Amino acid sequence: MSFADENDLDEADIVISPGAKLGKRTKPAKPATKQSDDKFIDLNLPPISNIGDLFVVLVDKALELGLENVLTNTMKAAFPLNVATIFSGTEAPLIALQQISNALEKRGMPPIQVNHLFSTEIDPVKQGYIERNFHPKLLFRDARDFIPRDSKTHKITATTAYGAVVEIPRVIDILIAGFVCKDLSSLNTNKKTLKDGGESSDTWKALYSFVKEFRPSVVLVENVKSNKTTWIEVTQLWEDIGYECSWHICDSKNYGLPQTRQRMYMVAINKELYGKGVKKAADDWQTTMMALARQCSSPFEAWLPEDLSRQHDYANLISETDWVLCKLRYERMRLVDRLGMKHPVSQYNENGSVCPPDFANRKFYLSQSSRVYDCIDVAQLLGALAGRDSLYKMAVWDVSQNADRFKTRLGILPAITPNGCDFVSNQQTALTGSQLLVLQGMPFDKLLLANETPKELQDLAGNAMSTPVIGASLLSALIHCSKAFHKKAGKGVSSCHTSLVQRAKLVTPKLMKHETLKSSGFIKLDMKKLVQDAKSSTQLCACEDLKDISKSPVQVCKECGHTACSDCSGNPLHVYDETIPRNTRCPPTDFIQNWRPQFPARLTFNNFPSLLEEQIVTGRDRTPDEHWRKFAQRVAEANLNSEHFSISKFVRLDNLWKVIYVSAKATLELHIEKEVEWRLFVRCPMALPGNNPIRKSLEQPVARGFVEDSLLEPKWELFLPEIQTYPLLISASSSEKTSSWRNRLGLPDFRNETVPNHLDVKSSKGQTAEHGLVGQYTLLPDCGTAMCSLYKKSSEPPTYLFLDCDPIGHGDLDSFVFSHDVRRVPYGSSRVSLARLDCSWRPWAIESNSESRVNATIPGSWVASDIHLNADVPDIHISLPPAGSIVSESSRGDCSQMVTMLNVQLQELLDTHEFSAYSWALEKAKLLPSFPQWQEFHETTCTTRNCECAPPFPRILWSVNEKFEASAHEDRKPAAQFERAVKTRPNVFVINASANSKGTEINVAANVSVLQHCARSRILGRFNSCSEMWRLVTDHVEPAFKKFPKLHLRSNSTDTPHRGPRRMKLELTETQKKSLTWMEKQEFGIPLTVEEIEEEIHAELGWRLEVRASTTITLRGGVLADLPSFGKTVTTIALIQNEIEKKDSSAILEENVKLSSGLPDLIDVAATLIVCPDHIAKQWAEEFERFLDEDQYEQYKVLLIMKHGDLERLTIKDMQHARLVIVSWKVLAHASYISDLAQFAALPEPAATKGRAYDAWLDYAVEVVPARLKELRDTGVAEFKKNTVDTLEMRLQEADFQAVVPIKIGHGSAYQTYDPANPTSYGKRTAKPIPRAKYNQKARTQPTASADWTLFPTPLLQLFRFNRVVVDEYHYLYAELDHYPTYAAVKKINAHKRWVLSGTPALNNFSDVNQIATLLGVKIGRDVWDSSNSTPLEKRLASDQTAVEKFMSRTQIMSYQWHEARHMKAQSFLDSFVRQNAPSLEHIDCTEVLRAVELGIAHKIVYLELSQHLTSLRMQIKKQKAAKKSKTKSKSASHRDTRFEMSLRNSETAEEALITSALEFIIEAGDSGLAALTEIRREQIEETKVEIFKLMKQANGVQAFLSTKSKTGEGIYSVLKELLNAKRGLGDGDSALAVSKLLREAKGRQTVSTVRTEAEATAHLKILSEEIFSASQELTTRMRSYRFIESIQRYLSTLSDGQANPEEIICSSPTCPKSTSPMVLIDNCGHMVCKVCLSKRGDKESCVHKGCDVPVQANNLITISDIGLRMNDMNEKSFGKKLDDVCKLINDIPDEDQCIVFVPNEAAVTTLEDVFVHHRISHHHKSALLAETIHDFQNNKNSKKMKKVLILTLGGVEASGVNLTNANHIIFLSPHLAESQYEYDSQMAQAVARSRRFGQEKKVFIYHFAALRTIDVDILEKRHRRVDGIQEMGSPIQLPGDILSQRFKTKLVRNARGHMALVPIAWLADDAKRAAMDVQENMSFTSLISFSDRYEYDDE
Ligand SMILES: [Zn+2]
Ligand SMILES: [Zn+2]
Ligand SMILES: [Zn+2]
Ligand SMILES: [Zn+2]
Ligand SMILES: [Zn+2]
Repeated sequence: MSFADENDLDEADIVISPGAKLGKRTKPAKPATKQSDDKFIDLNLPPISNIGDLFVVLVDKALELGLENVLTNTMKAAFPLNVATIFSGTEAPLIALQQISNALEKRGMPPIQVNHLFSTEIDPVKQGYIERNFHPKLLFRDARDFIPRDSKTHKITATTAYGAVVEIPRVIDILIAGFVCKDLSSLNTNKKTLKDGGESSDTWKALYSFVKEFRPSVVLVENVKSNKTTWIEVTQLWEDIGYECSWHICDSKNYGLPQTRQRMYMVAINKELYGKGVKKAADDWQTTMMALARQCSSPFEAWLPEDLSRQHDYANLISETDWVLCKLRYERMRLVDRLGMKHPVSQYNENGSVCPPDFANRKFYLSQSSRVYDCIDVAQLLGALAGRDSLYKMAVWDVSQNADRFKTRLGILPAITPNGCDFVSNQQTALTGSQLLVLQGMPFDKLLLANETPKELQDLAGNAMSTPVIGASLLSALIHCSKAFHKKAGKGVSSCHTSLVQRAKLVTPKLMKHETLKSSGFIKLDMKKLVQDAKSSTQLCACEDLKDISKSPVQVCKECGHTACSDCSGNPLHVYDETIPRNTRCPPTDFIQNWRPQFPARLTFNNFPSLLEEQIVTGRDRTPDEHWRKFAQRVAEANLNSEHFSISKFVRLDNLWKVIYVSAKATLELHIEKEVEWRLFVRCPMALPGNNPIRKSLEQPVARGFVEDSLLEPKWELFLPEIQTYPLLISASSSEKTSSWRNRLGLPDFRNETVPNHLDVKSSKGQTAEHGLVGQYTLLPDCGTAMCSLYKKSSEPPTYLFLDCDPIGHGDLDSFVFSHDVRRVPYGSSRVSLARLDCSWRPWAIESNSESRVNATIPGSWVASDIHLNADVPDIHISLPPAGSIVSESSRGDCSQMVTMLNVQLQELLDTHEFSAYSWALEKAKLLPSFPQWQEFHETTCTTRNCECAPPFPRILWSVNEKFEASAHEDRKPAAQFERAVKTRPNVFVINASANSKGTEINVAANVSVLQHCARSRILGRFNSCSEMWRLVTDHVEPAFKKFPKLHLRSNSTDTPHRGPRRMKLELTETQKKSLTWMEKQEFGIPLTVEEIEEEIHAELGWRLEVRASTTITLRGGVLADLPSFGKTVTTIALIQNEIEKKDSSAILEENVKLSSGLPDLIDVAATLIVCPDHIAKQWAEEFERFLDEDQYEQYKVLLIMKHGDLERLTIKDMQHARLVIVSWKVLAHASYISDLAQFAALPEPAATKGRAYDAWLDYAVEVVPARLKELRDTGVAEFKKNTVDTLEMRLQEADFQAVVPIKIGHGSAYQTYDPANPTSYGKRTAKPIPRAKYNQKARTQPTASADWTLFPTPLLQLFRFNRVVVDEYHYLYAELDHYPTYAAVKKINAHKRWVLSGTPALNNFSDVNQIATLLGVKIGRDVWDSSNSTPLEKRLASDQTAVEKFMSRTQIMSYQWHEARHMKAQSFLDSFVRQNAPSLEHIDCTEVLRAVELGIAHKIVYLELSQHLTSLRMQIKKQKAAKKSKTKSKSASHRDTRFEMSLRNSETAEEALITSALEFIIEAGDSGLAALTEIRREQIEETKVEIFKLMKQANGVQAFLSTKSKTGEGIYSVLKELLNAKRGLGDGDSALAVSKLLREAKGRQTVSTVRTEAEATAHLKILSEEIFSASQELTTRMRSYRFIESIQRYLSTLSDGQANPEEIICSSPTCPKSTSPMVLIDNCGHMVCKVCLSKRGDKESCVHKGCDVPVQANNLITISDIGLRMNDMNEKSFGKKLDDVCKLINDIPDEDQCIVFVPNEAAVTTLEDVFVHHRISHHHKSALLAETIHDFQNNKNSKKMKKVLILTLGGVEASGVNLTNANHIIFLSPHLAESQYEYDSQMAQAVARSRRFGQEKKVFIYHFAALRTIDVDILEKRHRRVDGIQEMGSPIQLPGDILSQRFKTKLVRNARGHMALVPIAWLADDAKRAAMDVQENMSFTSLISFSDRYEYDDE
């Protein structure tokens, strides 16, 4: 039995057809389509591709089947129907009901009145979707909540998505539920033993208990197909609770959707409510359900709206799973089905690169594994054998499955599943979630999707019910079950549509301005400009979205005009010669915005003739036939002369813009390309079947008009459907031939098939000459089209002959056409062609020297006609408010009033039902009421703080579980209130249109007050006052996403230098003085406006209304982001000293106390608090001492608090006396500190010290501190201690307390004590003991009871309000989670002035700036971010959100403009509060030195191998998952890329891997010559062979065991042997030979197997086969790798004096002419070939070597002279030249000097330590305690113990801030790989500043190491920008002395004498400078690779 879902994937199961034998195919490929009506698209029916139309058909049928009767009789009393849904998903039932109502209304019937009681959905994504689209009265969170637990209480409540708890409604007429439950047996409550608890059975149980309790009249259920017996059981279960059931299996494609989806549908009717005849009702339900079936009649593409973005973002795949078995399966398929070895679609290369067709979605491809590539390729090859080019057929392959499971039903989808991946072969991408939703019958234009990810949408679609099927189920239930519905009194009539939204009153301002838009408004368009603009904004590559232009330049094919960007191009090759750079193109939205207003809004025709008119018909060759007459009649019915065409939209297509006008029955399109042409289409009546010839003819335009200079006066031509057939004579006009398509696909049976290169088309009678078909045609083999058969005739425009496929028809019926247009056409529109050849003609069937006679059919002819097109826009009278003030005055701040913003009147009667029908009349008018500037609200505006429409966000409550994990949720009651308010909030925009005797009136009104109230509530939630402004933008468009400008920081250069402070030992530099002036100014207070903007957008209207609420506060302080060694410390000291010189403590206190009024009562102190990382706390103190006079320093009474113990020894008094307190971060994060704070506040300890829960606890603690402080002051220390216990007791009694504060006490469980000092009061509770020692120590410091309160010990920082707080290196605080408690605490420490210091603040986006602002004490805006594209910070914030917050964030979508405004706001914050200055260190002598290293030859090869590997992966590392541990534990649990695995393992990115590879070279035991490398590779090959042999013997053993047990000899091992014997599956002749040899040798030899059972043996054999296969693949890889080295070695051996000797060169081509042409190395197979042979290849994607199957692309080719090989150091012991050189350098440094070595990453630290140990270099490394290490390095000068080197990681926290002036040599092992230039500059500066800073007395040396021709040089040249040059130490190059005014990118050069330098590129442009440096040659030392995108596009 098979009840599995039809899409289940079973990887292990290899299909083996018993009779399949190798050899030539005997039977022909089966024809793909054997149409049987119920499985395919039924073209005999009228095509339906729209859910609305489908429902009309469905409802019509239902009306016939009895619905009409029910509606007019029984149903009325039941209205409105109470409907509820559980497991709602997409709410398809509600959509179905809505569609049914719409259809009924179309038939003049009343709609179904529905009362949507509630929805139930647990997933926040789906909740958001439901809320946005359906606004159910109630949206419950979890249906499993419903199971009544307590039978005594009759009230059953549940929690809503907003967090409110409400009662579940009881009177339900229809309950609908959908499941994915395969095994329903666990439902049976009697079978207690069944494994239940799985989610789906839980949900079934939930439904069952719900029905049992609430007894709805009718229950409709959908479930996946399941077995019959289960359903019988289920029926029984329902019967047990009084329900009558019946069920039916439905397939969605039988209900009109193009999807194979079999589901069980069930009805259960409440027997009691229905009464008699219930059994029959249930049966009738099923019968009617069957009668309502209607086969689908349109393929899926027809269903998909054009503007559903075609390209979707996919994340790159990061891991590749092991899929040896699938690979084996495909190899077998390829062998048995004779598919060949090629990867024609993906052009997948074994090293991982792909080059899919250029129209493919590359992002999709890159997100897939190589299994999927193989799957797509195999499917294409199978299709080719069946006579079809799938790239042109509408096939859907669910590539999450294997290719042998694909059913080739063109145009129909397999069942949509949550995890499927529906790949469309002719779109070369997977269907997106939103497309899948449409294909489930969702009316997409009506659905609102927000920021759901593709995965989430897929999930929504995969779990949805098909709308028409549930619709049929509902209709059937309405017809047969209405007797069971509850009778209602008929009141409370509400249909599905009536929302809860309050109706606002419409107010029209008295002083409206009136205007008339005159009809004569159309201005003549500049056609030249139009064409030009269109060209620059049209789509030129498939990767361009509707709004985007491609990132890379576009290439144009000179043969066929095809365009593709350089990222996407390559497959097919084309003949690209022209390039269009990006900067010459303009965004498509600009084109629309500029041109749309210039087009007439409405058009009419006159003089459109009948196609049967005499003057047209006479003179034609033929008299009108039946077809012609019908066609003419249809055209006449379109009333072209009386209908209006109103403007609809602009459509952007491949090299084409369309402007579309629509009338009731026709469409008029303006095509703008090189030429401008009108095309008039008459729509086909719906009732005509899909295969009706009239329908086909109507796909062509009925008229066309060629525009020259006047848009409305084109030359018109009419189309006459005179179909004619002529014979043509076609022959090959030369003997030249090219491989045919099937030949190029590598199909073995078509190895000799060719097509002629030239065709001669002749007319048989000379009569077709006028059609321009006759002539010479040339094959364009590289230009694609179906089956690669494009022929071109040179003419103007060129005529093409090619295969034009019907995407859903059988391949044999496709025919070649003559046309000017070779582009792909979307389904439903047909190509304008000149003629169509008989479908039997194929170019590969042409025999040379013979002429074939082929019939050509001409679809009709074009005749000139005198048609007139007119602009027809009537006078439009409009009125609008003349000024913004009048708008706000009229609304009076009352959100129940909305104000007319635009009123339009015209004398015509318009259809006012749908917006689109009258929107043209608003075309110009809607732009007029524009108030783009911020408008003040009128004074009379209401002043309510919190309007009902915008209540404050409910407060957060906490629950803590037994494990002390805290989780947050909203307070239930306010949540309910909040929910009500959000739902009943009035609409912001309302459009009313009405028609009366005078004409039509359209009124657009806006409710400004609602937005005002919402915005205000956001500000007033945090501040005390608020003011608002509003504005209205009427030309709103959502632009293509553009990156916002980079956030930047200002410097203090414009400030005046400060004159103080006087008593510092050190004179500040000029810039430091300027900085000080700014700091002093900041401390006086700088106003900051905090704002929140609320917006509402009406997309169709293009209106955006915004309200901005803001308040102004004052901040004192700012952020110093000065570059390292500028002296942030010094300026901070100066700031403090300056104040001290001016004011004494009491003066400061006096001033501060004034400012404290109104603030919570804390202890005001005059001290400055400095919070800094542990390793620089001491340094801070020392710096004060160093920079200040001694007497001054004395005054500071510095408190240095390094650990909690230091704090414990202090008292409040000490704090009051001090003027400087320095605290290490560690202190605030210490458990004792937190515990002490808890004790002071009389709180239990926090449940968590990380994340939001700690913030909540801390908030509470900080809030109660003032009161506790008062207690301390009033009662004294002893009393206070005693009170603590009582207060704590009291708090613990309050339920509310426990809900608000996440504390370390499990709610409801036993309380825990934390104070063993008072054991009796907590005695009974389970105490968590705290180490006694700690309390003993405390006791010692405790003062006597009578002491002064200021002697209270452990002065916690939260008790004070400091004069100033300074937070140093803040960005490391939130970067690491360990620092979280400090981070949280620092934000809440009170101080009058706040300073934040950081050299490298993160400045990615608004969120980062917001984060900086919080440290200054304010949040500048709410958290809103795009979930798909968030920074690490945002991800962390998001993970802390509550369910409701997540849900709310999904219901709101903000515009691009909104985000842009916020971004600007962030910039202005930076401008006011942040400064960044660069240091001036001219006085410190410093030399930068270049150390260029030429790597050893073997090292170079290893590097090259890796770099080629990574280039082919396009620098995307796919990390391989660790292979499954296998039974045999063989070493060869192998990967394809074992060679590179080591290099990649520790690297995050490809670039990092390359840096590492350029740095270290350790192959084995230090021996590193080329010979050694060769030897290693050879050994690896031998090892692998041994391994394979061993595995084969084992497999033979198991096989032998199996053959004794059973007769089944066939199995996977046989398949494998078969493959290997056939020398297949490995793609390399040498390795295939080796393996088949091994196989022969192993024959008859076996290892005795230990397996005991047959099953075990089978499983084991499978594993062994898998391993043999992967080991063989590994062997191939290794042999290629060996060959690669061998080729190089051989090349080297032929070198003499740098010149290769042609005699000795061995080119891999068997036909090599042995010339001296340059040699090229193919990196992925190691074959070497000369350029002559390379260019002579027949197939440009293959290797020249026979038996080598690697696909070869341009990037696989390495010109050998580019590598820079030299005969050097062939045998040498080293760690690689670079590390050797580093050690040499260090050993040369004077003994007394020390140095710092910066390494690129952690892994390099380990390597370097090994090297240093080897070279006996004393060094400090990271593993020691940091602060101590540094201290020792700084201070240990004992010549024996002094460490020479300190190793630090570039960019790491330990390198920050610390002063290492003891060292004066800085070594950069590798250039810094930074994410951005900003990061590079700041982190390099940070690194250099360790030594090069104030206090450095020696000369500083900076060394940059770079390995030549590696990524090192690439990075240096790109990132290391300079104003001058650097060179090698003691190098004699004469560098120009002048320094450039700005920094330039640099270039590495070598002068004539071989000396190297890194110089700014500006110098190289200057001939004089070049000459001076003696640099002539333009040599490049960069690597041969290109960077990954991220790196490449990051250019400011
Ligand atoms: Zn592209
Ligand atoms: Zn081309
Ligand atoms: Zn309001
Ligand atoms: Zn050659
Ligand atoms: Zn090769």
